[in-house]
Amino acid sequence: MKRRKFLENTALGAATTAALVGCSGGTNTQTTSTGDLPTLRWKMATSWPQSLDTIFGGAQTICQRVSDMTDGRFTIKPFAAGEIVPGTQVLDAVQGGTVECGHTASYYYIGKNPALAFATSVPFGLSAQQQNAWLYHGGGLEAIQKIYSDFGIINFPAGNTGTQMGGWFKREIKSLADLKGLKMRIPGLGGKVMDSLGVNVQVLPGNEIFLALERGAIDAAEWVGPYDDQKLGLNKAAKFYYNPGWWEPGPTLDALVNQEAWDKLPKAYQEIFKTAAFEANINMLAKYDALNGKALKELVDSGTQLATYSQEILIAAQKATVELFEENAGKDASFKEVYQQWQKFREEVSQWYQINQLKLAEFMSKTDK
Ligand code: CA
Repeated sequence: MKRRKFLENTALGAATTAALVGCSGGTNTQTTSTGDLPTLRWKMATSWPQSLDTIFGGAQTICQRVSDMTDGRFTIKPFAAGEIVPGTQVLDAVQGGTVECGHTASYYYIGKNPALAFATSVPFGLSAQQQNAWLYHGGGLEAIQKIYSDFGIINFPAGNTGTQMGGWFKREIKSLADLKGLKMRIPGLGGKVMDSLGVNVQVLPGNEIFLALERGAIDAAEWVGPYDDQKLGLNKAAKFYYNPGWWEPGPTLDALVNQEAWDKLPKAYQEIFKTAAFEANINMLAKYDALNGKALKELVDSGTQLATYSQEILIAAQKATVELFEENAGKDASFKEVYQQWQKFREEVSQWYQINQLKLAEFMSKTDK
């Protein structure tokens, strides 16, 4: 018995040593093996401040559910923006293997490939419902995964905020002339469109917006919607809250996984990760929709003034958007490929929406005061 106990202890000791060695270098830190499936410890870099339970919550959902479904064998620790890398460098951290995975918005990286905008949201594009239809059943996910494969990354939709608000402004914006020279935080193609309308565009991660707006380093900023914006305190830095968020009708967040780390995962863990990302995708949207109405009322009650973009601005922005799409398609083959496929899908799904769902929404908006 004594000898058997000694052997067990020795085996455990060897496994622990392997674990320590495994932790010290490289991605996919496979450590000990208990039963059929290995014990894995991964890190997830995110683009979000930890204070935002909605959007950082998407990362937490994935990590929690992966652990739950593997009985604690495969655990992933989420890190807030700035803890491992700045919030807008998650793709780089996953690509380079600094972390095995990340949770971010793909449109932060349109400088690397402009077609990544479609992974998140583009101006005057798809609603959350339509975006999910495109990604899961309209060829969208295949198109975006093809782009990410160039970076040695595989991506999965892992959250959606629903239609965002149109941002916070220190003073009213009534015409196109009011936008000229305005310093505004707005990422993605929305930022490119604003740039073409004369706005001085800034891209800051979420945790840096409040101070920049409060101190006057920027004149305007968009983040997400009532619940998150209130949490960041943006209502304390600017008074006018605009709608609609025409540049983000239904933005998707993505879980990014280093392809080498992904390939080393047992098939069961891959399926579990995909399931957890899918759950995060649906759960985040439900959470935002449940929280935003109450938060909007609180903002208005505490002095926030709601305002709607003028037709002049909306029409000019939509025109600039189409021009931007065409310009990008003309100089980037992968953008053209995704754009054409996406555009065909958008026309079909939009017709379906306008024939039926929109009619009910229009009627309800008149009677549901
Ligand atoms: Ca936004």
